[in-house]
Formats: sequence, C-alpha cells, structure tokens
Amino acid sequence: MQLENYIRDIQGFPKEGILFKDITPLLNDAKATQECLKILVESLKGQKINKVVGAESRGFLFGMLLAQELNAGFVPVRKPNKLPYETISASYDLEYGTDTLEIHTDAIQKGDKVLIHDDVLATGGTAKAVCELIEKLGGEIVQLNFLMELTFLNGREKIKEYNIFAALTY
Ligand code: IMP
Repeated sequence: MQLENYIRDIQGFPKEGILFKDITPLLNDAKATQECLKILVESLKGQKINKVVGAESRGFLFGMLLAQELNAGFVPVRKPNKLPYETISASYDLEYGTDTLEIHTDAIQKGDKVLIHDDVLATGGTAKAVCELIEKLGGEIVQLNFLMELTFLNGREKIKEYNIFAALTY
C-alpha cells in the first residue's frame, strides 16, 4: 500500500504560497490508517512508552490511536486557554510573531517515558515547544514521531538531540 496516495496536496491553504498536506483522505480509509499506525508502532522497536503526547489538533488523531496500541496514557497539548486545569506553557517563534502551547501540570510524572506525536514536522517550532513542556515536568522523551516530515524546512535541526521518526518524507 502506497500511503503517499492518501495524502492530498492543497495549494494555497491556509494562505497563499503554502502547499498544505491534507491527511483527511488517509483518516477516511481504515486500511491506510491501520497501515500507518503499524509503521509508527514498529519504529519504536518495543521501547517502553507510558505516555503519548499529541499536539493540537491533528496530533490528537493518531496520538490517541498510538496510546491505545502502546497501552499508554494520552496527553493533549493545546493552544492557550483550552485546558481546564492548572497548566504550564511554552512559546515558540512563528514567521510573524509567536505562538504558545499548554499542558496540564499533572499530565506527566517525573520519569515518564514519553512519545510525542504530531501529523507534520515542518519548521520544528511546535515539536520543540512540546519537548520543553515535557522536560519541565520531568518526562523522558523516547521518540518524536510524525506522519510526515517536510525535510526542506529543516525542522529536525531544532530537535536534533531526540530520536525522530516520520512515516513519510517530502
Ligand atoms: P512547525 O511548528 O512549523 O513544525 O509546524 C508543525 C505544525 O503545523 C503541526 O502541528 C502541523 O499540524 C502544522 N502543519 C504545518 N504544515 C502542515 C501541512 O502541510 N499539513 C498539515 N499540517 C501542517
């Protein structure tokens, strides 16, 4: 099965000049979703994970599937003022301005073995901020995995001290 066939390119979304990788055709197909999940799980080679952290919002989709597959808990990392309990936050630079992500302070315990998941690794800003949040809470980052890595944006550079896996690369 060619997973690439389930990723749709949308030119000019969400703004002009951007080629957006749309994963909804993949989500729409049970077999393709199962195949993708299998590839992500196999990349962990049986390493122990007890928490999966997903970045808002597309990171929640496979993040939750991965957590169930690995018998781990799931933790959402969200945009500001979305999480109801006590949070800590991390900010990162965008092309224009900054963005912030939050996590519940009790979501990660010291020594937790953490897998971070998001749909796309682009510039790496999101992933780096998620790493910061987990380490502030004492979690140990085992791997970051993505459905796709856009290698021409060099996101890997920002998180080079960690293990990174992507099911598809562009
Ligand atoms: P980064 O922080 O630049 O690495 O961007 C990654 C974040 O932006 C992820 O949370 C992605 O969901 C989102 N993102 C960036 N580019 C795309 C894309 O082409 N398709 C879907 N999501 C994208």
